[in-house]
Amino acid sequence: MNEPRAHVVVIGAGITGLTAAHRLLNPLDGSTSNVRVTVIESSSHIGGKIRTSPFAGLGGVDEGPDSYLARVPAAGRLAREVGLTTSLTNPTDAHASVMHGGLHRIPDGLMMGVPTGAMSLARSGLLTWRGKIRAALEPVLPSSGDHRDSVGNFVRQRFGREVHELLVDPLVGGIYAADTTNFSLATVPQLADLTHGRSVLLTARRRRAAATSSGPVFETPRSGLGALTAALTDSVRRRGGDILTETPVTAIRREGHTYRIETPTSSLDADQIIVTSPAAMSASFLRPLSSELADMLATSEHASVVMVTVRATGSDLARFDGMSGYLVPKPDQRRVTAASFGSNKWAHWNPGDGSMIMRVSLGRDGAPTHDLVHEWDDDRLVRQVVDEMRDHTGVDITPVEHRVTRWEHSFPQYRPGHLARVASMEAILMSRAPGVRLAGASVRGIGVASCITQAESVSATVSATIADTGHLRD
Ligand SMILES: Cc1cc2nc3c(=O)[nH]c(=O)nc-3n(C[C@H](O)[C@H](O)[C@H](O)COP(=O)(O)OP(=O)(O)OC[C@H]3O[C@@H](n4cnc5c(N)ncnc54)[C@H](O)[C@@H]3O)c2cc1C
Repeated sequence: MNEPRAHVVVIGAGITGLTAAHRLLNPLDGSTSNVRVTVIESSSHIGGKIRTSPFAGLGGVDEGPDSYLARVPAAGRLAREVGLTTSLTNPTDAHASVMHGGLHRIPDGLMMGVPTGAMSLARSGLLTWRGKIRAALEPVLPSSGDHRDSVGNFVRQRFGREVHELLVDPLVGGIYAADTTNFSLATVPQLADLTHGRSVLLTARRRRAAATSSGPVFETPRSGLGALTAALTDSVRRRGGDILTETPVTAIRREGHTYRIETPTSSLDADQIIVTSPAAMSASFLRPLSSELADMLATSEHASVVMVTVRATGSDLARFDGMSGYLVPKPDQRRVTAASFGSNKWAHWNPGDGSMIMRVSLGRDGAPTHDLVHEWDDDRLVRQVVDEMRDHTGVDITPVEHRVTRWEHSFPQYRPGHLARVASMEAILMSRAPGVRLAGASVRGIGVASCITQAESVSATVSATIADTGHLRD
């Protein structure tokens, strides 16, 4: 007689949850899946932060992430595996700038804003001579002092205020919507990796030299990242997995070796659970398992951003030719933190009538509290974008179409010490509810590729646990 298969419930149908479900049903090592899988999603939308919708006459323009890091092997491999090989594309070679008293092309040879040589900085008009000399002294400084796991402290110690304020903070802060002084260095792998040698600049130069042959940095399906979550959804369902939408999990209770998952309308039993929902949401339904864990999750902080997408016309748009967009460092910021010239960055985002798609981000962690841009109405947001872009670039844009996406509490903020807190939460789960595991943007990496890597790792652990113990880890 066949053993009943173990039931794994994945909470959240963002990229982490969908990848975990797909991998449980289609293990990377080619083995036959040993589980039944149910994904439970609170909203009606499958994909979480990945959301692609028609805009400017194009079938799909992303409202959230527009690409994943191509150099993380798991992401590209997954996209190809689910059938997207021929639709994948990379950004053009348009360059990005920093707005600081005018637009300055980002110097070549940076790693997450960290210089790998003094020459490209010397040629840039972005830093003062004083700032350039301070940065150039880095290789002769003694090893780093105590940076207290802060990106900002570390970069200022090594390269001085200007490299931090005008390069690293806009670049890293732009990715994480973060105030990098209050952001964990250990959670930004490319920077954490540079802390090992005595000179950060020389270590960064060696890393960059080793990486030059590895191709484009970003990759995405031409019809938008929604194609990836749609293909994963198909794969999960085709392999017999269930995806329940509009079904918020309200509580998880332990019942001996299994778990009971409650929703407003039903409950179901699971042998193993992978929690991929944002920390603050997970806190409430994990409380019956451990109030200590729930308190830790509930106090995690998140930044809100608004993404304004416009199709713009204007007689001077040609002045943006060759530019993929620009970042606004904090000393120069009003509301706009970055503007991406989408039609220059992506060849396939071209409306074909001389107009241009732009995606403009407003809001970040640590912005003044009166600055709740997500509460502004659409017209006010679009007016703000037009005004600030005129001030930044001298170009008057006329939006002929716009779309506003409010991403409230959407960027987890990894405070210094974040990884130690994650380890404590995992230790609590190990002792109180060993069949429950955390993964996703709230845990060990915000980027799409990092979420995919986490999902593959946690699903391999779950599959192995079930294979070893027949359902049970404890
Ligand atoms: C505007 C924006 C731009 C970005 N740009 C990029 C980019 O270009 N490249 C990149 O790599 N990354 C980017 N990111 C980051 C990346 O998109 C996210 O970190 C990642 O998609 C998060 O995936 P996830 O599966 O961990 O979480 P989510 O996508 O948040 O999915 C979690 C799911 O859990 C569900 N959920 C919540 N509570 C419950 C509950 N009680 N019961 C059941 N389900 C629940 C939610 O509805 C959600 O669908 C961007 C993010 C944003 C917001």
